[in-house]
Formats: sequence, C-alpha cells, structure tokens
Amino acid sequence: MNGIEQSIVRVEHLIKRYNSTVAVNDVSFEIKKGEIFGLLGPNGAGKSTIISILCCLLKPSSGRGTISGFDLEKNALEIKRIIGVVPQEISLYHTLTARENLTFYSRIYGLSRQMREQRIAKILEMVGLSKRADEPLQNYSGGMKRRINIGIALLHNPKILFLDEPTVGVDPQSRRRIYDTILELNNKGMTVLLTTHQMEDAERLCHRIAIVDNGKLIALDTLEGLMKFAGECDIVRVEARNITQKTIASLEKVDSLQKVSVDRDMMTIQLLRGREMLATIVDILTASDTKVDSIQIKEPDLETLFLHLTGTSLRQ
Ligand code: ADP
Repeated sequence: MNGIEQSIVRVEHLIKRYNSTVAVNDVSFEIKKGEIFGLLGPNGAGKSTIISILCCLLKPSSGRGTISGFDLEKNALEIKRIIGVVPQEISLYHTLTARENLTFYSRIYGLSRQMREQRIAKILEMVGLSKRADEPLQNYSGGMKRRINIGIALLHNPKILFLDEPTVGVDPQSRRRIYDTILELNNKGMTVLLTTHQMEDAERLCHRIAIVDNGKLIALDTLEGLMKFAGECDIVRVEARNITQKTIASLEKVDSLQKVSVDRDMMTIQLLRGREMLATIVDILTASDTKVDSIQIKEPDLETLFLHLTGTSLRQ
C-alpha cells in the first residue's frame, strides 16, 4: 500500500431499511487512502446497498459518512466527481465499438476532444483491450464488457474506484486481467473498494477485508489477521456410518467444540485447535460405535472463518 495511512472513506452507524428488511444494520468502517478494501459476504448480505449509499445513489435510513471529507448527504455532487463506479449491471451500447462506447461516455463527462483521445487510448491499454478496441461489443465476452465498464468508470480520473462484484460471470482470462488492472491502478495510488462473494477476489486483491452477513459487519482485518483467527477455528470433516445422537452428545462435551452438524454420512465439526483434538475425537467416535470411513482437517481459509462466524457457508 502506498502513502500515509489516512482515511478517505469513513462511515458511521449506517442503517438502511426496506420496509421490514434491514439491508444494512449499523455498519461503521474507514477505508485508508491507497488501500484496496473488500466487502466480502454472501448474496443478500448488504454489500451493494453499502456501495449505493457511498455513491450517493441511495440515502441511508440513518447514520452518516464522508468521502475525502465530503459529506454523503450534503456534498453528493463533489463526491460524484471524485469516485468512479463499476456497477454489476453493464450499461453499454452493443452495436458500438469499445472506443465508441468510451468516447460516448467521455463526452458526457465533458472531456475535451484532445484529452479524450489520449485518455481513451490509455484506458484501453490499461484494461487490455487496445487490440480489440474497434470491434463492436457484440463480439465481446462478458469479461471483456466488464473491463470496458471499468474503463468507463476511469474516464474522469477518479481518486477512488468502487467495483460491485467485479468478477461475477467473467471468464478466467478476464478475471486475471481485471485483477491486474485493479492492482495496477492501486499501485499508482488509487483507493479501491470492491464487493465480492468470492474468496479468491478478497484473497488476491484486498489489503483489508470486511466480512458482511445479514447487513452486519462481523469482522474487519487484513487477510493475515483474519487467517490467524481462522487458523484457530478448525473444521474437521468425518465421513462415517452409524452417527447417532449419542455420538453427537459425546462430541458436544469436548471443551473446544463449537458446533457439530450432520448431513447423512458427513459430520462437520467446528472446534478450536482441531489438530490437537483429533485423537480425542477419534476416541469418542470409536467409543460410540461410529464406523469412520475418512477424517480430514480442512485448512483454515476465509470460508472456514465465515462458517465459524455465522454458522453458514459463504457459498450458500
Ligand atoms: P448483496 O449486494 O450483498 O447481495 P444487497 O445489498 O443487494 O446484498 O441486499 C441486501 C438486502 O436488502 C437483501 O435482503 C435484499 O433482498 C434487500 N434489498 C436490496 N435492495 C432492495 C430494494 N430495493 N427493496 C427491498 N429490498 C431490497
């Protein structure tokens, strides 16, 4: 990360209600200048709603926030000048070429003709589409269109870039290209906020990750910090026959155990210090006549951490 650790985004106690749904429930965080900050959570967690509030597209029910010192409620115009937004929905003209799409949007942003040509050439290079710039978008893959959308968000040279699920539905090649573009922009000093429900995005890109579930921010740390915590929460998977209530009751007596769930012949045990406790688990299973076919410890990752924090899978 470049530069001094100064906040560029600050939100305090954001709440957004839609009738009986609380989409964002008392969320506070800060994004430092020059960092890539990720909002990670399953579908429906509230990530897009948070981004829409930060882009001044939605008003929060309560709470406040600033971007670069500008107030979300009072300074929407100033904020829109310094942010670039890449929405999930792609809004492009499919009969026009990539260059024509970028030209169209650069006119809307009021870029002069000379600036326009230079800037568009640079952006096409940045998103890796210079060679295909003069083909109509109907020839493009979903990932290439997403890259053009990123390009459009960069036309007015924003200080901070918001990307809502940048890699959903894109092919692996475009995914890598999108990663490279985000990292390159960040290297040049751009602050990035992205939402994702994919662990890989968070792991590959983000300096800090906020885990969101059911509208709440349930963890916020660097990947290393989160992994350190995840490392203490192991998942042991046991494939076995004859899993009885007695087996489960005996396991539940283990001190470091947090949760046992059974799905047919697969038992998932969440516990602290799983490796150390493996012998104890095997003893309990043997004593209760459970026939073990396989037993494995899942290496800690963001998925295990999410399961530990919420009791559900990130993928669900
Ligand atoms: P995510 O981006 O994490 O998938 P969203 O922010 O889109 O989550 O949605 C959070 C919650 O708010 C979900 O329960 C969703 O159904 C609800 N929601 C989002 N937008 C609206 C809306 N316009 N009207 C009613 N409910 C909404």
